[in-house]
Amino acid sequence: MASPSIITLTSPGSPAALASQTPQMDSFYGLTREALEAWCTLHGFSRVHAKTLFRSAYKALNPEPWSAPSLPRACAALLPLSLSSAPLRLVAEQRSGYDHSLKFLVGLAGGREVEAVLMPETKRLTLCLSSQVGCAQGCVFCHTGRMGLIRQLSTDEIVGQVLLAERWIAAHPEWLQQVRLPASTRISNIVFMGMGEPLDNVDAVIAALRILSDPFGLALGLSHISVSTAGHLDGIERLYAALPKARLALSVHSTDDAQRSRIMPINKRWPLTEVVDRLRTILGGDGPPVLLQYTLIRGVNDRLEDAEQLARLSQGLNAKINLIPLNVVGPSRLSAPSPEAIKAFRDLLCSHGLRVMVRYSKGQDIAAACGQLVRDANSQSGSSSSGET
Ligand code: SAH
Ligand code: SF4
Repeated sequence: MASPSIITLTSPGSPAALASQTPQMDSFYGLTREALEAWCTLHGFSRVHAKTLFRSAYKALNPEPWSAPSLPRACAALLPLSLSSAPLRLVAEQRSGYDHSLKFLVGLAGGREVEAVLMPETKRLTLCLSSQVGCAQGCVFCHTGRMGLIRQLSTDEIVGQVLLAERWIAAHPEWLQQVRLPASTRISNIVFMGMGEPLDNVDAVIAALRILSDPFGLALGLSHISVSTAGHLDGIERLYAALPKARLALSVHSTDDAQRSRIMPINKRWPLTEVVDRLRTILGGDGPPVLLQYTLIRGVNDRLEDAEQLARLSQGLNAKINLIPLNVVGPSRLSAPSPEAIKAFRDLLCSHGLRVMVRYSKGQDIAAACGQLVRDANSQSGSSSSGET
C-alpha cells in the first residue's frame, strides 16, 4: 500500500485547505522513506527532511516526529494536517511466568484487535507480529485459522505494532533488567508469525519491510526479519521480486501431499513440492537461508519416514529446520509427540547434516505462542495494564 502513489493529496495548499479536503488521510507510519520524500517534494520541501522524519519517528520514537528541531516550521505545521498518525492502542499486556515472553493485545481502528508478542532471548529481543485479523487459510491446528479472515492490516498497523512495543520497552526499563538484557536494548529481530498469513497481504507487508529495514529508521536488516508463510506461492514471487534479500520461513508441517492438503488447505492450491521447487530456483542452495518449520503432531507427521522426507525436501536449499512440538490451545484431538519421539525425529535430520532446532512455543501459559494467538482476547484473564503508547 505504501508506494509513492499512496499519496493521494496531489495539490499543495494551505494547511487549512488541505485539512478540509482530506476525507481519509494517508498514514505517516504507512509511508516508506521514498514515499515521504515524494510527500516533501510535492509540498515544496527538500526531500532530505524525510530522513530527519524517519530518524525522529523510528530511532527517537518521537510521537510527533514532525517536531524535530531541524524541520522547517511550514513542514512541521503541514505534516500532521496532511497525514494521520494515530498510535495503536495497547488494550492489555500479559506476561508469561514461563519464559518471559510478553503478549500485547493491540487495538486497531474500527475496534478489532490483534496480538504481538515480545520474546526476549539471551542476545536477542524478537517481536512476533500480526499481519491480518484472522486468516483465510484455515489450517486445522491453528487457532487464528478458525476465525477466517476478518480483515487485512494496513502497513501502518504492521509498523505500529513495532512502535508500540518499542515505546513500551522504553517506558519499562525495569523489564529489560528482569529479562537480563542490557539497558537500552531495542528490538533486534522480527518474525511475522502472529495472526494471519503475511503473504496474503503482501503489498502491505513489503512496504512494512521497507520501513522497518530503512537505515534511517529502525534499521532492522532484512536478515533479521522472517516472513512466515504457509506456502503462498504468488506472495513468495512478489516478495522476492520486490526484496531479493527477504528471509522466508516456510511452514511445512507435512511432506505428504494428501495429508498436507488435509491439515493445510493452501496445499491444494500450491502443493508443497511446487513451492519448494520454486524456492530452489529463486534462492538456490547457497542463497539466503530459508527456515523450514515443522510442527510435530503425534501420529500425524512424526514418523521417521516423515523425517526422511523432510530431509529430502531440504535438498538444494540453504535450509534450517525448526521442529515445534504442537502446542494445544483449547479442545483438540491433536497432541505433541513424546520427548523420545521428538529426539529421534531430530537425530535423523541431524544425521543428514541438517541444521535443526527444537523450539518450544513461547509463552504457552498465556496462549501467546506464535501462530496460535487467541481469537477472543476478552475471554483471557490476567491482563495487567491498558493504555496508549
Ligand atoms: N500464516 C503464517 C504465519 C503465522 S503462523 C504461517 O502459517 O506460516 C506461525 C507458525 O505457527 C506457523 O508455522 C504455524 O504453522 C504455526 N502454528 C500454528 N498453530 C500452531 C500450533 N497450535 N502449535 C504449533 N505451531 C502452530
Ligand atoms: Fe493462517 Fe498460518 Fe494459521 Fe495457517 S497456520 S491458518 S496460514 S495463520
